[in-house]
Amino acid sequence: MSMPPRGRSAGDEEGRRQSNETLCPESHATIEAAIVCAEKHLGSFRMPMSPYWGTLRANDHLVVGFQLSSRQRWRLDYAPDPDKLVHVNEENFDATPGHQRIVHKVEGQTNDTQVMLYYHKWTSQYGQRP
Ligand SMILES: [Zn+2]
Repeated sequence: MSMPPRGRSAGDEEGRRQSNETLCPESHATIEAAIVCAEKHLGSFRMPMSPYWGTLRANDHLVVGFQLSSRQRWRLDYAPDPDKLVHVNEENFDATPGHQRIVHKVEGQTNDTQVMLYYHKWTSQYGQRP
């Protein structure tokens, strides 16, 4: 019997309807490691990036990630789905279909405490949303 496809929709609030996500095969022990992995794959590692503000009412006052352009970015997220939990969403809409959304899971974190700390750290560097 073959494995069923990853049909269950992502718990990710922004990507709930996205089933075209690819899971990064690497293991990331920390949020920082997942961010570095996403930036290296995106080609933005050590390049200047702009803050990416949340798009939901709950987080539109927070910097939730960083963008290289309007089509290339990563954002840190937490989803209660046990398959996701703390993760970095890498999004590159210039990549070929099927490679546009990559999820970098962070191991060993079961709540959003660290995610919120990062959001607030980044937001405090940029102040109010423009
Ligand atoms: Zn990765």
